[in-house]
Amino acid sequence: MSNNVVWHKHVVDQEVRAEQKSQRPLVIWFTGLSASGKSTIAGALEQILTHQGYHTYLLDGDNVRHGLCSDLHFSDADRKENIRRVGEVAKLMADAGLITLAAFISPFRADRRLVREILPEHQFVEVFVDAPLDTCRDRDPKGLYAKADAGEIKQFTGIDSPYEEPENAEVHIRAGDVTVAEAVNQLLAYLHEVDVLRAGYEPIQQEA
Ligand code: ADP
Repeated sequence: MSNNVVWHKHVVDQEVRAEQKSQRPLVIWFTGLSASGKSTIAGALEQILTHQGYHTYLLDGDNVRHGLCSDLHFSDADRKENIRRVGEVAKLMADAGLITLAAFISPFRADRRLVREILPEHQFVEVFVDAPLDTCRDRDPKGLYAKADAGEIKQFTGIDSPYEEPENAEVHIRAGDVTVAEAVNQLLAYLHEVDVLRAGYEPIQQEA
């Protein structure tokens, strides 16, 4: 970065934008193996939050790889750059006052920590979507494990590329044991506990 680029502090800042939306912006970061349920759970949570009048945006790993990160592949360096870019975008979205959900395998602890560190304090919530590899392999909604097993996809997380489990995730979802609705309720309870939700929230009753 050029030394001559100086940060411009605008009058309309995160606080003003958040106040206008009557909400506390933050980034809810879902990490876990492919097919563990990140997108499904994040999407179900976003649906509830939107329905309850919150302003949200869901950044989804597969989707950003079609645009923002279409030049990146799955080497360790490219995965790192993928998460760096997405982290910066998530930061901008939170700065815009949005409750931002991000669903990315994000296999490396250091990369997730970097995103945590660029965000203001208490605005990064790490959610470990923890489903056993065998469960993910059985689900295989996109047929990716089958392809990885056949050697058609290289550097597949959990097969021939590592996944570093979070050590201190704010929320740990046992996604092999709970329903999507239970996972969403666990998240709502956490968001309630840390005062992100307005008064009067209720857990959802049925499958999301
Ligand atoms: P990821 O985003 O982690 O790659 P997806 O959400 O795309 O995972 O896929 C998870 C798949 O598992 C979906 O087809 C979803 O319907 C299914 N599934 C079954 N049970 C659950 C559960 N308890 N939580 C999340 N997903 C589940």
